Amino acid sequence: MLYNLVSASSNFRLMSNAALFLPMDSDATAEDFHFVFLARYVYFCDMKIILVGMNYALHNKEMGRETNNSEPIVFMKPDTAFLKNGRPFFIPDFTEELQYETEIIVRIERLGKNIEERFAGRYYNHATVGIDFTARDLQRQLRSEGMPWEISKSFDYSAAVGDFVRLDEIGGEIQNLSFRLDINGHTVQSGNTADMTFSVNSIIAYASRFFTLRMGDLIFTGTPAGVGPVKKGDSLEGYIGDRKLLDIKIK
Ligand code: MG
Repeated sequence: MLYNLVSASSNFRLMSNAALFLPMDSDATAEDFHFVFLARYVYFCDMKIILVGMNYALHNKEMGRETNNSEPIVFMKPDTAFLKNGRPFFIPDFTEELQYETEIIVRIERLGKNIEERFAGRYYNHATVGIDFTARDLQRQLRSEGMPWEISKSFDYSAAVGDFVRLDEIGGEIQNLSFRLDINGHTVQSGNTADMTFSVNSIIAYASRFFTLRMGDLIFTGTPAGVGPVKKGDSLEGYIGDRKLLDIKIK
């Protein structure tokens, strides 16, 4: 399959870009969409990863912030931050304090710009759980200097992404998903999307004012309270409800 994709490279960008404009109610089959996702993930790797910080009041408190922000705090990770489920995560040498942040992720499935919140639900149909790996010591240091903290968040393989499931397979309510992270068999962090400060739809509306959203783009929706350290040898398992969707070993 991969070999065929690569050997078809001359027409590939054209085909994948054309497919981006397929409306969801066209005659496109599931295979067509799968093809486009493969094109974006595997070959061009040009999806972007949009993340929201400080989106759960209790987490804001543990980070020392008493007030909630009035608009979502949005930042990005490049495609090189993408860590596929099942691949190991290697702790980078520039941090002594690597932390997990367990987050619900949605996958954008239509092209959109300036999306109205009331229509934002049409732009995603799948969700999963993932980890926004953070070099906390580096972030703290950069923050205290008033510098951008991008390198503490957006380094290679810092965005671990579980296997996506259709929303209707996990209850259908994006704002009522229970999720958790187990490390070495013990639950270390859990949350429910009902506790978000900014809903997924309002995040999509806000982010799409600044960034065109394209098929395959991912949105990490923030972490609940309970972030903590990971160390070499840990085994991380992420769940939505009782469904295990993420399994990452730390090396
Ligand atoms: Mg986060």
